[in-house]
Amino acid sequence: MKASESELALLSDQSADPAPLGWATRQWFRQLAACRLCRNVTLAVFVAILVIETLILVPSYRNYEEDLLRQYEAVARQGIATFLASTNVSKEPAAAQALLRATGLLGIDMKTADGSQAAGEPVGQAAATDGKLRDIPRPAPGKLDLLWSNPEWAPDWEIAARLDISELSGELWAFVFRILGLSLLIALFVTLVTMSVLGRMMLAPLLRLRHRILQAGEDAAHPLHYVRQPERCDEFGEVAGALNKMLVHISTYQDRLQVLNEELDKLVDQRTRSLKATEKELHIRSWYDQLTGLANRALFEEHLRNFLRHAETESAAGVGALLMLGLDNFQTINGLAGHAAGDRMLQEIAHRLSHYAQEKNLVARLGGDVFALLLPHMSGADPQKLQREIEAITGTVSQPVIVSGQELQCDVSVGVALIPTDGQDAPTLLQHAEIAMQKAKAVRENSIHFFSKTLSQQVRQRQTLLTELKSAIPQGQLKLHFQPQCDAVRDCVGYEVLIRWDHPSWGPIPPSHFIPLAEDSHLILTLGDWILEQAIVQAKRWIEEGFHGRVAVNLSAQQFAKPGLVDEISELLTQHRFPANQLELEITETAFMGDIDRAITIMQQIRALGVQLAVDDFGTGYSSLAYLKLLPVNRIKIDRAFVKELPANQQDLILCRTIITMAHNMGCQVIAEGVETEEQATCLLDAGCDELQGYLLGKPGPVVLPPGAPKPKVGG
Ligand code: C2E
Ligand code: CA
Ligand code: CA
Repeated sequence: MKASESELALLSDQSADPAPLGWATRQWFRQLAACRLCRNVTLAVFVAILVIETLILVPSYRNYEEDLLRQYEAVARQGIATFLASTNVSKEPAAAQALLRATGLLGIDMKTADGSQAAGEPVGQAAATDGKLRDIPRPAPGKLDLLWSNPEWAPDWEIAARLDISELSGELWAFVFRILGLSLLIALFVTLVTMSVLGRMMLAPLLRLRHRILQAGEDAAHPLHYVRQPERCDEFGEVAGALNKMLVHISTYQDRLQVLNEELDKLVDQRTRSLKATEKELHIRSWYDQLTGLANRALFEEHLRNFLRHAETESAAGVGALLMLGLDNFQTINGLAGHAAGDRMLQEIAHRLSHYAQEKNLVARLGGDVFALLLPHMSGADPQKLQREIEAITGTVSQPVIVSGQELQCDVSVGVALIPTDGQDAPTLLQHAEIAMQKAKAVRENSIHFFSKTLSQQVRQRQTLLTELKSAIPQGQLKLHFQPQCDAVRDCVGYEVLIRWDHPSWGPIPPSHFIPLAEDSHLILTLGDWILEQAIVQAKRWIEEGFHGRVAVNLSAQQFAKPGLVDEISELLTQHRFPANQLELEITETAFMGDIDRAITIMQQIRALGVQLAVDDFGTGYSSLAYLKLLPVNRIKIDRAFVKELPANQQDLILCRTIITMAHNMGCQVIAEGVETEEQATCLLDAGCDELQGYLLGKPGPVVLPPGAPKPKVGG
């Protein structure tokens, strides 16, 4: 709120510049009129005075009327007394008439012992004059009947007279107007005085105070500028003093506030910077691979989409090739050399790949050990050029990487999808390149495979097979077969459990077809659990019939990596009250390679249950007798590949002998699988092999007879 011009005039009450008197007075009045407080107070004073005057007027009026009536009575009395003194009324019958004329009375009725006389208007029920005259009932307006009974001034007479008081009301009105006029004048005067006092004593200081508060409010930064010595010693002075105190307090807190404000500014600044950094970090995280700094799948897809959109407008054919590169056996490197070395290797490969990318985001790490690279302007129209380019890339990528003085090398399998032949949108192209890469990996490590319609068909077939496999367990299409494992004297010491799938329309499907599929889709986890439980149930029956041998169940790498595996095995054993030492789990080397330390821990836990462990397909993977001694296994299974050409193949024979000797040195037993001939059996037994498994000793079959036991009843 700002002070108006007139307020300022009033505020400048004490200013040195005297304004012209008329103008100042006018302003002063205007100011007072505008002041609601003053207006109300003056109005109240004015009305109060009027009310008081009016209240006083009522008794005054009555007294005045009485006084007037008394005057009338006195005049009449005087007239009658004078008349009676000067005249012998009783003797003159017309005296009453003369009295009327002499006194101006309207009527008279006089009585003595001698007689009576009357004249003029007849006097009615006259009242005595000793009471209040104004209370005497009047015969008509302007008339008053009075009675004097033997008064002092006429002791012989009883006189009743009618007085003419018609002028009384006029006089009374004049009295009222006089009094009211006077009251008004007094009220006006008192009001003016009140206004003047209010203006000077209240309004001016109040406005000055308000002006000061407003100024201090607007200029909040300098509260001390508005501290003033209080002008007065009344309540206004006290309010001004309180305002001063408040301003001083504000000024004290302002310094503290200033400091706090600065701190807050700093804090906000810090937070903003940290938010920006987080935002940047989030951006990088959501679009870039943390380890290699390459684009991630989302960003790569985005760029691929942009590229395709741009290419559409440019040319319809031969716009590029999408490469998906998968490192072969990277998990093994991770396991053997450690994760830090694996990470370093991925970074180096990413670095090498980025040299082949035309733009930064046209190369990406899609996840794990899989990379993608877009080669614009490379098309199927010049397959040789493309092949050369890809070979150059694989050549570079598979060059050894030196990490902490250790030479690490990884082959790479490449899947190629041509644009637009193999797809016109990003998801299709990526899917097809991946299918081609999987094929490249499956065919041979370190190979290049181009996507084709046939491949797509194969993928679809795999998809159909997978769908069928999912329903195979509930539909009872899967069965367990058992292949005997025999000792040197050909006694059966155990059975390997091998799964069989008899499809109602496609017939028997070999495990080599559907087990990898189950592994790819992780269905192997459900399938594996089912097989293990079925094997335990079946073997338990044999044990109850007197079987003392073991049952060997194949455990896939995924099952081995599954958290809670040991507990599950333990629960199964307890549930079926199965003797742990009669269960053997066959694990391939690839299952250990990911994380050898973890593998050792898990194996130790399995062994602690009493369950036996065998290393399956020994010699085909990254067999290293050096780490083998770390593994708490009971048995090593020499793979069929090394048995097949025995005894003719000298190299295989030496290998088998070495494996057997070293395994024995480590306290492990050895079993050879795929034994089909007597020569193979003899040769292996001569080399010290403990047990044999193969068609020679028995093919896998649905139900077998445990040695030395009555024929088991196979349920289900
Ligand atoms: P594997 O564990 O090495 O199983 C041995 C394979 O060699 C079996 O093939 C068996 O029938 C075959 N075999 C045994 N003796 C001879 C022989 O004298 N000559 C020839 N030529 N072959 C012989 P199968 O049953 O086709 O299984 C193939 C692979 O499928 C298995 O290799 C195993 O890796 C996987 N597999 C089979 N059943 C299961 C299972 O229940 N669970 C898991 N995880 N994998 C299984
Ligand atoms: Ca096996
Ligand atoms: Ca095997």
